Amino acid sequence: MENAVLQEIIPNGLVYNIDERRTKSDLGMPVEVRYKAPWDTAWQALWSSRGDRAETIYDRSRVWRYRESLNWHGIDTYNPAESARHLVSLDGKENRDVGPFQLFKAAEYAGLDNKNTWFLMFGSNPSGSFKDGGMVSLFTQGKHLHVLQYICASTGNTSQSLAQVAANEMATSTPYLKRPIVVVPSGRITPGKLLGAIANRAIVMQIDGDFSKALQLVRSAVDADESLQLANSATPYRIEGQKAEMILLMEHFGWHKVPDWIVTPGGNYGSTAAIHKAFREMREAGWIDRLPRLAVINAAEANTLDVLHNERKVRWNNGNVDRKKIDEFYGELEERFRREQQGERVRHTDMTAIDIHVPADENLYKTLRAMEEMNGVVTSVTDEEAWEAKYVIDSNGLGEVDLASASTVAGMKKLVGQGIIEPTQFVVGRITGRDKDPEKSFERYAKVNPPIKVANNLNALQQALQALYTLR
Ligand SMILES: *Cc1c(COP(=O)(O)O)cnc(C)c1O
Repeated sequence: MENAVLQEIIPNGLVYNIDERRTKSDLGMPVEVRYKAPWDTAWQALWSSRGDRAETIYDRSRVWRYRESLNWHGIDTYNPAESARHLVSLDGKENRDVGPFQLFKAAEYAGLDNKNTWFLMFGSNPSGSFKDGGMVSLFTQGKHLHVLQYICASTGNTSQSLAQVAANEMATSTPYLKRPIVVVPSGRITPGKLLGAIANRAIVMQIDGDFSKALQLVRSAVDADESLQLANSATPYRIEGQKAEMILLMEHFGWHKVPDWIVTPGGNYGSTAAIHKAFREMREAGWIDRLPRLAVINAAEANTLDVLHNERKVRWNNGNVDRKKIDEFYGELEERFRREQQGERVRHTDMTAIDIHVPADENLYKTLRAMEEMNGVVTSVTDEEAWEAKYVIDSNGLGEVDLASASTVAGMKKLVGQGIIEPTQFVVGRITGRDKDPEKSFERYAKVNPPIKVANNLNALQQALQALYTLR
């Protein structure tokens, strides 16, 4: 029995069958998965009884461990064979080992109390970013609908995650699947991410233009060909899997201790939509009595939400979004894009994962709603601020992070400095992915901690050490 419908994100919104592959209603309002019953409190104990030593990959997965919360088809989640038939997983590895962790140096750098500051770190995911959590839930719906081929636009990590989940499915349970298609902006994607997509045999198309242009192209391809399934986070099925991030967080803190803040980078705003949906459903179930506040961090050179929220005062306003203001801003961006094509130099952020100017409408609207219900703030950080924060995060011994991830810590520092986040508050930051641009990072670290060339003898080594210490 179907457990859910697709419904417009406004109160009493239009309702559609869960299997309609739509992202919006006929009136253009985004839809989301709405469950017929609130979460059952008995799930808390059930979920905690599953874990790393469990027998099935579905119990070990840090998405499917919580499968009752995203069981839109009402499968028998207690039945391992039925789970195996329906659920798609990267062998149970999605969201394993993502924390929460404490990064004392990062907390101190941001001006926060390190006892109350926690980080989810998604670099340990198979594809190196949080994208796997939502990709496995999309593929679960795709398997149900017998989808043959997926397509996405990407700044890099979505394409790698899509390629890996597709590759894993083709190798295990869905051999008839066709290679996925990924459309990426030429030159604005890191080599490591491109490599991930290519190595997993995705069909990679590079276009002239940015992510927004790639997404437009992908959406028209999907509209023109029924057999293609959109794999971007505009599709509600990806948001469902991504809710697990906040569930595992709340599980860690005993289900009731709600953070004061969730701090996250904002790119195409699937994350912000999922964070909000997870806490909203926990509140509807009576598990928590308030939502955390949301802090979204933009790159200074791709700061759409910052401009729309802070400068143009665009608000959710119960679904009566002032579309004119949004379109006006997008018009200005289009103008700038045209000037750039005619040769004007425009600076682009090094934080390629959030180098997004026109996000999917669906996620923008969901995020405007999240900003309202979570008393949200948005700010922007420069590349220099992000690099500095990255040096600090990387020096905690838990691995090197994607520059866009570092915006979380740079943003925390900024918001603490402005008195918006208080130093003793309970703050959780999302470190969204691992570093996949070692060449650029090497270039940067050459100024921070360069390797020292020495002659191959003890004397030279000791002299070099001496010089290093006297310099300090
Ligand atoms: C995708 C991605 C983001 C942006 O997340 P959204 O959900 O699109 O806002 C940020 N950082 C990294 C590393 C990513 O891969």
